[in-house]
Amino acid sequence: MSQTFDVIVLGLGAAGSSALYHLSKTGKKVCGIDQFSPPHTFGSSHGQSRIIRQAYHENPKYVPLVKQAYDYWAELEKESGRQLFKQTGGIMLGHRDAGVVKGAELSAQTHNIPYEYLDSHTINQRYPAFKPGEATVGILEKTAGILFPEDCIEANLNLAAKNQAEIRLNEKVISINPHEHSVEIVTAKGRYTTDKLVVSAGAWLTELLPEPHLPLTVERQVLYWFKNSDSSPSRPVLNELPVYIWEYTPGKIFYGFPDLGDGIKVAHHHAGEPTTPHTLTKQVREDEVQAMSEVIGRYFNINPVFNYATTCMYTNTPDENFIIDHHPNYKHIIVASPCSGHGFKFASVTGKILSDMALDKKPEADISMFSIHRF
Ligand SMILES: Cc1cc2nc3c(=O)[nH]c(=O)nc-3n(C[C@H](O)[C@H](O)[C@H](O)COP(=O)(O)OP(=O)(O)OC[C@H]3O[C@@H](n4cnc5c(N)ncnc54)[C@H](O)[C@@H]3O)c2cc1C
Repeated sequence: MSQTFDVIVLGLGAAGSSALYHLSKTGKKVCGIDQFSPPHTFGSSHGQSRIIRQAYHENPKYVPLVKQAYDYWAELEKESGRQLFKQTGGIMLGHRDAGVVKGAELSAQTHNIPYEYLDSHTINQRYPAFKPGEATVGILEKTAGILFPEDCIEANLNLAAKNQAEIRLNEKVISINPHEHSVEIVTAKGRYTTDKLVVSAGAWLTELLPEPHLPLTVERQVLYWFKNSDSSPSRPVLNELPVYIWEYTPGKIFYGFPDLGDGIKVAHHHAGEPTTPHTLTKQVREDEVQAMSEVIGRYFNINPVFNYATTCMYTNTPDENFIIDHHPNYKHIIVASPCSGHGFKFASVTGKILSDMALDKKPEADISMFSIHRF
C-alpha cells in the first residue's frame, strides 16, 4: 500500500531542503525524498562556501528577492542556533565597462544599496592581496558575504525533522506518475501518493521529468583551493578578504572567497564542459590546476600553491534565470531549477515560494521572470 502525503519534495539540496523546512511549519503532512543523504558532494550544493550579495550585477530585478533571502537566512540561523552566514563584504572587479561592474552599480543605484566605487590604487591599498591592473575598478558592497551551504542544508533538514516532516534518504525516485488530482511516486523502496509534488532535483531534473522538454544544460565546474607559499611577515592577509567576482576579460569571470582555513577558494564562473550527473568527471586534471594557478599569479600578490580541488555542477537555463513554476500540464507538480550558477543565496526564499505554491498561496515575491512559458 502506498503512503499518502499532502506534499512531497523530491530532491533535498539547497532548494528542496528549504522547501521542506518551510512546509514542515504549516502543519501539513509532508515528506522529503533524496537519492543520497544531503548535504552530499554529488550535486550542486557542496564546497564549503557560497557568495551572497545584493548589488546584483546579473539584473536589478533579483534585488528584492535577495533581500527577502537575507531575512529568511537570518530566521534559519536563529531557529537552528547555527552560524550559516559570515559577512565579509563583496567586491565586483573589472574594467569600468565590464558587465559585472556596471551591473552591480546599476542594481546598487536602483535599490539604494550602499556601495563604494574604488579605483585600482585604492583596491590595492585596502586589499594588498589583489593585483588589479591600472584600468581595474571595484564596486564594494558591505552586506555581501558567505553562506555555508552544507550547514544551511543540514539546518533545514534538522528543523524539518523536528517539525515532524518525514525524510527519506538514500531512496532514489524512479518514476513520477501524475493523476488528475494526485501524483504517484515510485522509488527504489516503495510507492507514495501525494496531492502536490515539488520537483527540486537539480541536475537530474530533466531525466525525472522528460516532459515538458525543459531547455536545461548541465555544466561541470571546478573549485580550487590555493595557499600562499610566501611566509614573510609582509605577506598579504588572505583571511580578511571580501568575497570577489572578477571580470578579468570581457565575459570571462572568476570568483572567490577569503581563506577560511584551506587557502583562498577560487573558480571560473561558467566556461565548464557540458556534462550530466552520470558522466561528470570528478577527477581534476593537472592542466586545469595549472591554468587556474596562472590566473591567480596574474591577479593576486601571492605565490600560489595548489591545495585541493573538487567538482560541482551548474544546471543552466538559456537566459540564466531560474525556473520556478507549475508544470504546464499538471498544476499539482511544481518545478524548481533555481541554479544557473547563482541560486544558492536565494534558497532560503525559494523554499518559502515553493511551499506557498504547493499550498496554493500566492508567493510574496514576484516570480514572473522564472516562468516555464518563456521558453
Ligand atoms: C561550483 C558552484 C559554485 C556556486 N556558487 C554559488 C554562489 O557563490 N552563490 C550562489 O548563490 N549560488 C552558487 N551556486 C549555485 C547554487 O549552488 C545552486 O543554485 C544550488 O546549489 C542548486 O540547488 P538545487 O537544490 O537546485 O540542486 P541540488 O542541491 O543539486 O539538489 C538536487 C537534489 O535532488 C536529488 N535528486 C535528484 N534526482 C533524484 C532522484 N531521482 N531521486 C531522489 N533524489 C534525487 C539529488 O540527490 C540532490 O540532492 C554555485 C554552484 C556551483 C556548482
